[in-house]
Amino acid sequence: MKKAIIVGTGAGGATAAKELQGHFDVTILEAGKEFRPFSFDLSIPEKLKKMGLLFNEKLIQILFPNMRIRKTRDRMILVNGLGHGGTTTICTGNALRMDKRLKELGINLDDEFEEIYREIPVTTDHRSLWRKTTEKLYEISQEMNLNPQITPKMGHYDRCRSCGRCVLGCRQGAKWDSRYYLRMALEKGAQMISECKVQRVMIEGGRAKGVLAKQRGRTQLLQADLIILAAGGFGTPVILERSDISCEPHLFVDPVLCVAAEWEGSYQNQEIPMPFFIARDYFILSPYFDHLSFFFNKNWSCPARDIVSMMIKLADNNTGAISRGKIRKALTERDKERLSEAVAICKEMLHRLGIKKKDMFLGTINAGHPGGMLPLTEHEADSLHNPRLPENLYVADATLLPESMGNPPILTIIALAKRVSKVCINHWE
Ligand SMILES: Cc1cc2nc3c(=O)[nH]c(=O)nc-3n(C[C@H](O)[C@H](O)[C@H](O)COP(=O)(O)OP(=O)(O)OC[C@H]3O[C@@H](n4cnc5c(N)ncnc54)[C@H](O)[C@@H]3O)c2cc1C
Ligand code: SF4
Repeated sequence: MKKAIIVGTGAGGATAAKELQGHFDVTILEAGKEFRPFSFDLSIPEKLKKMGLLFNEKLIQILFPNMRIRKTRDRMILVNGLGHGGTTTICTGNALRMDKRLKELGINLDDEFEEIYREIPVTTDHRSLWRKTTEKLYEISQEMNLNPQITPKMGHYDRCRSCGRCVLGCRQGAKWDSRYYLRMALEKGAQMISECKVQRVMIEGGRAKGVLAKQRGRTQLLQADLIILAAGGFGTPVILERSDISCEPHLFVDPVLCVAAEWEGSYQNQEIPMPFFIARDYFILSPYFDHLSFFFNKNWSCPARDIVSMMIKLADNNTGAISRGKIRKALTERDKERLSEAVAICKEMLHRLGIKKKDMFLGTINAGHPGGMLPLTEHEADSLHNPRLPENLYVADATLLPESMGNPPILTIIALAKRVSKVCINHWE
């Protein structure tokens, strides 16, 4: 059987591993370790915050090594998951189909989405878990004709304890993440090498021969007939650049900004996050307790249980780049205008809840949906293969997305990775 190497175990990588094992002898290379949910009681970081010890968001990585934090020059916080399951382990479980733009390019993923809905349980049956404040915000958004929709969630939400800690990993096993697919791949016989960071793809005579990977200080060449990169929107472009394959300066990240206020007994910090959403052309709005802002932003000074917050998730201009491993990403004037428009709607919602606009405060801008640096075009609608890649090297993660969606991308990345896998089986098995 031919050998395939898959880099990364997030939404794209775990999917490709599950789909390809059996057709190929799959080896999965993962830079991080096994994922463990953040185990501490949140009163501990709350105490550290009061003592003034939480002054830099990067400190999270010490307590929670599966979360990677970076800062841009403009102080935007970039978040991604590192370890088995990639960023899906710290997601909030939102399960939206977001392939309209891909369809316009001629990429029809109907079959792949059908498969996904057979494999991953998706539900909107979680309203019994909502707090009173959320119910009220839902009513307010209906009054304002904002057409709120209950968020589809992936997983077994009958197990959800509404603890509000989704972004720290689910201790109840309620939320679905890509470790489910990873486990299936391993059960079918795939091999996984953890703490193995891929540096570059080795190319000889126009073909990818293998990857150079570093594990515990030792660099080795691992050879394969087929190589699939799924190291995520921040990781894959770095590997490609080191392999002398340039990407496009089209990085997007879906920035998040929260508009918050003190609201006694809101308990949003102990509630299923993003229970409903309001979709607009360039952003979505959703109730969300932002742990990052709460612990690190001085404006978030009241007790966690007494904060009410609305999240804005923006579809940003894809004008970022990664060069020599450094991420360049700033909000454009258009991004800022759209954010202001969204802030005004959130403020009006909180005002209708009974809060004075002068008492509202903003969170720290953070982002965790990177992608777009090797975007698919209509020319690659069938092959899903960018011609600048050697013929036996594919990408199967958010790097392929043609534009920022300002929306949860996991299901769409999984659908794309499924299609990439089918193409690989047809051409290379
Ligand atoms: C806090 C947060 C909440 C989110 N919530 C949602 C949500 O509710 N719904 C949703 O749809 N999306 C959500 N997202 C976004 C979603 O999780 C990501 O967009 C998605 O997981 C990206 O998939 P990917 O395969 O591109 O990369 P990832 O899932 O990030 O996987 C990349 C993998 O590659 C590994 N890796 C990186 N570099 C290397 C290397 N050099 N060598 C080997 N391995 C490497 C990483 O450890 C990781 O396993 C959220 C993101 C964040 C940060
Ligand atoms: S809110 Fe529910 S799904 Fe999220 S971490 Fe808690 S138990 Fe898991």
